[in-house]
Amino acid sequence: MSRLFISGGTLIDPERLSRQRAGLLVEDGVIRAILPEGSQAPRDAAVLDATDCYVAPGFIDPHGHIDGHTYTGQLSLLQGITTTVGGNCGFSPLCIGEFLKGQERFPIHQAEMVGMCALREAVGVMDPFVAAKSDQIHEMELLCSRALCEGAAGVSLGPSYTPGASLEEMEALCRLAKSFCRPVSIDTRMYSMTDLHSLAEAIELAEVTDCRMIISHFAYQYGVGVEYDALEMVELARMRGVDVHLDSGMYKDWSSAIGSALFEPVTMRDNGIELHHLRMATGEHIGQVPDRALYEHLRQAHPEDAVVVNTGDEEAVYTIQRYPLTMVSTDTGSYAPGEGHPQIAGSFPRYFRRMVTERGELTWEEAIYHTTLLPARVFGFEKKGRLRENMDADLVVFDPKALRDRADFPGLGQPNAAPEGMRAVIVGGEIAARDGVPTGAMAGRALAAGSFGPVHGVRRR
Ligand SMILES: [Zn+2]
Repeated sequence: MSRLFISGGTLIDPERLSRQRAGLLVEDGVIRAILPEGSQAPRDAAVLDATDCYVAPGFIDPHGHIDGHTYTGQLSLLQGITTTVGGNCGFSPLCIGEFLKGQERFPIHQAEMVGMCALREAVGVMDPFVAAKSDQIHEMELLCSRALCEGAAGVSLGPSYTPGASLEEMEALCRLAKSFCRPVSIDTRMYSMTDLHSLAEAIELAEVTDCRMIISHFAYQYGVGVEYDALEMVELARMRGVDVHLDSGMYKDWSSAIGSALFEPVTMRDNGIELHHLRMATGEHIGQVPDRALYEHLRQAHPEDAVVVNTGDEEAVYTIQRYPLTMVSTDTGSYAPGEGHPQIAGSFPRYFRRMVTERGELTWEEAIYHTTLLPARVFGFEKKGRLRENMDADLVVFDPKALRDRADFPGLGQPNAAPEGMRAVIVGGEIAARDGVPTGAMAGRALAAGSFGPVHGVRRR
């Protein structure tokens, strides 16, 4: 039996939005007891000193692209993320059961959505600009329900990467997700820079199929001057009873592969993206702002290279994070060391530094709620996101005065720089990172949906 006693810290409870100075006893991967301040450690327990620190449930990232990539999983761990949801934006492994089987030893817990783009490809729809035919939709439904049976956490739609996807095919997948009581996430289409039709489409999908819809990385989609209108649309939909949620990151600049449909000349034109907005985040041209010749060369020869798009508005990031139902997300992807977007290492510490410490927009309790219990409820992770006896012992111990992100964009800093102030991250009862260094614990498990309960109604804070 493994026992860990966390002493001297302040426990932040996202359920009651309260705090107390207390000790916390972890036994065999679960929270066994919360003991009064000053309690002695049980004799055989290892002791973790949390003096001057807050102790909270581990963060849950509702939108990542780790998908089994160990290095990226480690960077998430160092941010305090103990559970990630992968397979987003339409991209996922096709055989979710097989994928989950291979993930029983990982830095953090992983749940995995099944993605529409993967399903389209599997049934032979290779052109992102065409709609699937009805027999192909039927095949996609079969593959999708197999994935859901095997434990997919939900379905992800990626019409921004497959502009030809029809409402019919997306509706079919939403209905399947609904029948399994699992959520749908959507990377909304990009018709144009300030377009809200894409959001209306996502809300309509949720409304007609009655599924739980999560609008992905909201600031990247609508943080361009239309954020208030977009949030109002979400709020009005919720008042009509539509089960719509959103996740959003802490950066105004998003990132994707240069070869994707997002960087077709016509899409760039319609979205007001110009070459000077781009900066390469991976590959031999990392840090460079491409000119016309380099852009064409990269699309041809290096379509997988990631590029950061600098078109968003900083203030919109915070406006969206203020919304009572926003879940913080990273949109992290698998990069090589030294490459990528700072969201891979900085998002969650940046959220606390900006929203709590610097701007005073949220209390610590509220911010912890948004990063733990809220996503746990949206995805149905019943034993996560709560500081209670018998809940999973996924925990963070951090110094609130010292917590800050250090990651920055290639060319400006290190995208993989670990945050400061994170004293320990505990995954499944084991200390998986200490003072910014992974311990090599690999205590993360595959979270097959069905094993963690149905989704619940989510009340506002
Ligand atoms: Zn994404």
